[in-house]
Order: sequence, then structure tokens, then C-alpha cells
Amino acid sequence: MWKLKYILSLIILVSAFACSKKKMKADILIKNGIVYNGIDKTPENISIAIKDDKIVFIGDQNAVIIDASKIIDAKGLIVSPGFIDPHTHAEEDVKDSKKSHNLPFLMQGVTTVTIGNDGSSYFPTQKFKTLYKKQGLGTNVVLLMGHGTIRKEVMGKSDRKATDRDIEKMRKLVQQEMDAGSFGISTGLFYAPGSYSNTEEVISLAKIVAKNDGIYDTHLRDESSFSIGLIPAIEEAIEIGRQAKLPIHISHIKCLGVDVWHQSDSIIQLIERSKAEGINITANQYPYEASATSLKAAVVPRWAESGGLDSLFIRYDEPALRKRILEETKKNIIRRGGPDKLLIVKAVDTIFVGKNLLEISQLLNISPEETVFKTLKTGFVKVASFNMNKEDISNFMKQDWVVTGSDGGSGHPRKYGSFPRKYHKYVKKEKLIDIATFINNSTSRTAEIFKIPNRGKLQVGYYADIIIFNPKTFKDKADYTDAFQYAEGLKYSIINGQISIDDGKYTDKLNGKVLTKNNDKK
Ligand SMILES: [Zn+2]
Repeated sequence: MWKLKYILSLIILVSAFACSKKKMKADILIKNGIVYNGIDKTPENISIAIKDDKIVFIGDQNAVIIDASKIIDAKGLIVSPGFIDPHTHAEEDVKDSKKSHNLPFLMQGVTTVTIGNDGSSYFPTQKFKTLYKKQGLGTNVVLLMGHGTIRKEVMGKSDRKATDRDIEKMRKLVQQEMDAGSFGISTGLFYAPGSYSNTEEVISLAKIVAKNDGIYDTHLRDESSFSIGLIPAIEEAIEIGRQAKLPIHISHIKCLGVDVWHQSDSIIQLIERSKAEGINITANQYPYEASATSLKAAVVPRWAESGGLDSLFIRYDEPALRKRILEETKKNIIRRGGPDKLLIVKAVDTIFVGKNLLEISQLLNISPEETVFKTLKTGFVKVASFNMNKEDISNFMKQDWVVTGSDGGSGHPRKYGSFPRKYHKYVKKEKLIDIATFINNSTSRTAEIFKIPNRGKLQVGYYADIIIFNPKTFKDKADYTDAFQYAEGLKYSIINGQISIDDGKYTDKLNGKVLTKNNDKK
């Protein structure tokens, strides 16, 4: 008899325990996945529940009863926070209602892109923010203001030092853009008109950004030996951080061209020393050996283009100036490894596309430097410039302060392949970094650097920006001959709690939001 009593009370106890299990309602339940949360070094086999746009549960599913409208079985798949891309040239796509789905990035697992890098942004932020919201976005968007853009608003494209009055006007515009939700300022000190500014000008504007808790993102004044040199350009960025007291983020860190190859060790030491001094300095990097930029920016001397493209050709038509322009252009071509290392990836006249500068010059029977101006006369020309060395790329990639960034713009495969390429080539094949490092430095670290709240980690209360990919098949397909191929292996992408990629297919839904610095509900 006592035995029966005992068993009965045990049954009551067990069922009471079962009933005490918390019941939850969710929109989506992801179970059985290999979960990397964006912070930890080891994955866990746990479940995640999403309600509305947030993560409401993460942990052992047996501890709760979850009633979900959709269940995703992620067995054998990796579950990670959505990738955050700190440097893109997606603004043209984002502005165009036919391309604002941002699929080249979305298919890489990117759920947030940054736009307005390299000193160039659409102006004013408020106007474009409204447009993006109206049109809808495939991914979230983080906005930066361009220093070059602000300078152009106040001073045009002229090659002159800013007066106190110019600086005052620019500082007002910087405040206006921060008020509109910009996360900080980007500079393109290599490009005109950013290149016409001195360090003091940049510090003065960066101080306004610092006051607003923003960040400083830079395309360095020199990534090679074009003007002041690579290391002095990094020293300039550090000095801006020291004086303006704001975090410094170096975009697409690299040693561009034979003159500066193997400087990565000294650069790492320099940055480590500055970090020890208390300067917050980080960088992003794309996993390719070729950079990409306009042919003009790559090889034409800056002084020659002061005033814009028309002024360049007026100078070029003057025999004495033409001689100097051609000599300097020739030197710049050599810096980049020679004319056969400059591949035309985009041009108005498509006959040039897919050929390198040497091939075109042979075809036209003129020198490579003359070929530059012949092709520029036809309009915008973009090149892939093969100028990096494997050792430097690896050296930078191994640093915990270097995050993944695509610098993706049309013509270079990095727009379609950066994140899966880093995973496939550097994590899986070459084992240069482990998978958790790759994920953490593509998610939470980037959110932290850009001060993006409540994203980049899988954590209760955070926005549900989540990707699920197949570790066996996740890879890039785009290359230099066909740069427009979507990456493979992404099974699901959830943005703000809504499914954008479902079993490998785009759902045609624009689930992204414009993120703004001061109030992410704005
Ligand atoms: Zn750049």
C-alpha cells in the first residue's frame, strides 16, 4: 500500500514539475542547430525562439514549452547572428527601389550594411533616410556621413586649405548629420576632395562627432607610397583619435603595392602601442588580394584632377602639363605592380571590360599611361588592382581588432563573396582562424565598434537578426571574370524577426530597417 502511495505522489510531483515549465508563444523556433552566439568560442546545441522582432528565448528547449507558428530544424547547420558589414558601397542599390533588396549582401549572410564610407555619402542624411524607409530595405542599414561630401557642400571640389569660416560651416553640417542619425564620420583622405584637407581640419570635425559619441572611419590618406606613405597615414589616423578622443576604425587595412609589402608587422606593433596608450583603434579587411577603385583614383595624380574631370582634361590638353601628368601616372601604375596588374572590371565602353591596362594599350598601340586617359575620356572606369601580398593579408586577419568588411561595390567579387569566402578559404581550407573568431569578428565585434545597440549577438532581448548556413556548402562563387554570382550555402536569414531567406530562397520581403544612432526606433 505504501508503495502505491509513493508512486502516486511521485507521479503528482513529476506532473507538477512538467506543469511548472514555462509556456511560451513564439513566431519562430530554431532547434537542433550548432549555435554560435557571436561572443563565445565554442558552439552549443541549443534552441532559439523569436517573437515579433526580438529573441525571446535561447537555451535548452526541454526546460520550456514553446508554441511556435514556424519551426526550423537546423540539424547539422550553423546558427549565427547575421553578419554586419562595416564598409560597403551599397548606397546606389539601397537608393534604387529595384535593388534595395540588397541580395548580393543578403545571400552572404549579411543582415546589416554600412553605407557612406570612404568620405562619400548622400546628403543630407535626413532626406535619404526618409527615402530608404519609404522604399523598403532588404537588410538593415547603418549610415555614416562622408567628410568629402561635407567639404564639397561648403568648399566645392577645390584644392585649398579650409578657412576658419569653412571649418565652422562644416562643423554645423556634421552636427546636423549626427542629429539625423549618422553613426559617425567617414573620411577618404586618399580621394579628392578629402585629400585636400589637412589633419587639423579632420580633427576639428571629428571633435563634433566625438561629442555625439560617434565613430571615425577612414580610408587612409595613403595605403601605399603615393604621398605621405602607409605608416605615416596610420599615424595620422591615430593622431586624430588621440586629439579628437573618438574611436578610430581603419577601413580595408592593407599594404598596397610592392613599396610597402611586409609592413604589416610594424603596423600591428604601432596599433598595439596606440591601444596600450588608450586609443580605441580597430580595422576591417576584405579577404582578397586585389583592391578595386576607379581608374582615375588609382593612377591619376590628385593635383591634376583638382576641380573635377573637366579640369583634368583641360590640363591634359596642355602639352607641358600633359608630360608631367603622364610621368606621374606612369609611376603610379608601377606602384600598383605594372599595367598588367590593373584589370578593367567596369567601363562605359564594354570593350575594355575583362582586359588589363597592358592588353588595352597593346590593342590601341599607345603607352599604358596614355591608355588611362583614352579610357577615362569614355566615362567612369573601375579597376581591380592586384597589389596585395598573402603574408600581409594573413597577418592582419589574425588580429582580434580586425573585423570582416566587404568594401563591396559593383565589379569586384567582394560585393557578392567576402563573408563566405573568408569562411571557405581562410577558416575551412587554410585554417588561419577558427570559425568562432570568424563569426565573432563578423558580428558582435563590429556592432561594438560601430556602437550599434542590441544587434550582433544571440541574446534574449536582442533583435532577431539570425542566419543559418550549411558548414559544408557555404562558399563564394563570384570571381574576377564573373563578379555577379550569389554565394552558396545560406539556408535561412531572419532580419528583425522576419524571414528573408527561407530554405535557400529569397522570400521577396524587405525586412531591413534604417538604423539610426540616437534612437533605433526612429
Ligand atoms: Zn575605401
